[in-house]
Amino acid sequence: MKLVIIGAGFGGLQLARKLRNKAGFDITLIDKVNHHQFQPLFYQVATAGLDASNISFPLRKIFHKSKNIKIRLGEVKQILAAENKLVTDFGDVYFDKLVIATGADTNFFNNTQIAAHALPMKSTIEALNLRYKILQNFEKATELQGSESIEGYLNVCIVGGGATGVELSGAIAEMKKFVLHKDFPELDFSKMNIYLFEGTAKTLEMMQPKSSDRSMKYLQKLGVTLKTNTKVISYNGDKLVTNFNEEIKTKLVIWAAGIKGNIPEGIDATLIARGNRIKVDRQCKVIDSASVYAIGDVAYMQTLGYANGHPQVAPVATQMADMLAKNLYREEMKSGAANFLEFVYHDKGSMATVGRNLAVVDLPKSKISLGGFIAWAIWMFLHLMLILGVKNRLFVFANWLYNYFTYDQSLRLIFKKERDI
Ligand SMILES: Cc1cc2nc3c(=O)[nH]c(=O)nc-3n(C[C@H](O)[C@H](O)[C@H](O)COP(=O)(O)OP(=O)(O)OC[C@H]3O[C@@H](n4cnc5c(N)ncnc54)[C@H](O)[C@@H]3O)c2cc1C
Repeated sequence: MKLVIIGAGFGGLQLARKLRNKAGFDITLIDKVNHHQFQPLFYQVATAGLDASNISFPLRKIFHKSKNIKIRLGEVKQILAAENKLVTDFGDVYFDKLVIATGADTNFFNNTQIAAHALPMKSTIEALNLRYKILQNFEKATELQGSESIEGYLNVCIVGGGATGVELSGAIAEMKKFVLHKDFPELDFSKMNIYLFEGTAKTLEMMQPKSSDRSMKYLQKLGVTLKTNTKVISYNGDKLVTNFNEEIKTKLVIWAAGIKGNIPEGIDATLIARGNRIKVDRQCKVIDSASVYAIGDVAYMQTLGYANGHPQVAPVATQMADMLAKNLYREEMKSGAANFLEFVYHDKGSMATVGRNLAVVDLPKSKISLGGFIAWAIWMFLHLMLILGVKNRLFVFANWLYNYFTYDQSLRLIFKKERDI
């Protein structure tokens, strides 16, 4: 089977790993970046807590010992399903079976002005760019002491109170508390405000009410100004405006308020559901297609309990990949369609961290909600276990230990010119 996988994120990578060295499979894994990106820790890269290389894994190294996997670095531009062909920026690629695992990108909800000025965080490069911007703004602020325009450089606005927004707000608040005043002693950090905007009444609304309430308490404890039930309607690079006409001067708006599926051209519009996701059946096969599948964030599967599709989280992507690997293997072994599995999501829980010793964990089956140090320890342990590679795991652990005891990190480096940030 000539199997082509687009995207080496959680879903695509898992699928390729499950089918590596399996007889009968000739696999091509295509990604526009040459590494797997561990998105859950982007916020630590953005706030200079972790080095980008600790959470990025070169694809070619991952598949050193795989005889049936070819890696191709490039972007898929178009899917021509009727011809079993992909158009990419490195040429055409043919397949027997195709798996679309292209994940999701930031959704600015067609607000071109916000898209032009706010910063997203959906790739390692964007996380690094955010780091440079945070640091560069304080450098600029030192030049502007005594001037009114300093205000915008000190304020940070984060839009979206989901896990990404909460984790970023907490991490920036900790930077302010423990690090920034030492790096920039001339600046008055009592004038630095960190705002978190959320359109609903609560942060982490998808978690249990207790966890959600805890997250707000923790953020307030760290000095984050919470603006719930508030929508950001415009941002021109200098001034953010909310639906209550409140205006905030800021040079940094981080947009974590929504995502939309990444779909290359060629997928019929009738197959695209809300959130720009591709409609698939219970076996992740694109509706009415014989040879194209979609998994992970880009897949939209309606099942009992998930009428609007599954949550766009890593375990859904990896569990879909596990199921699809088994089905493709059974197909290749000609074990009969009756033996094909249907997807059932096993939700093992959700979690988010707000700061040192402050996290929330939901265990769905028992409806238990944990907070504080114990939740933080669980969060750290599980994230550590999910990181690829023993070396990376050790580095991240060492970094966290160092950070924990010294309240500092020495990664606040700017590798870009100001005009390019
Ligand atoms: C900041 C952040 C924090 C998160 N935290 C958590 C968390 O704590 N826990 C959790 O479970 N989930 C978390 N998530 C969500 C989780 O990362 C996603 O659900 C998961 O990555 C989805 O996996 P995927 O395989 O569908 O897509 P992805 O992992 O996004 O991978 C998609 C891949 O496709 C590639 N690609 C896209 N388009 C093309 C193209 N046209 N051609 C070639 N390659 C292409 C991309 O480069 C990428 O490598 C977080 C996400 C973000 C952004």
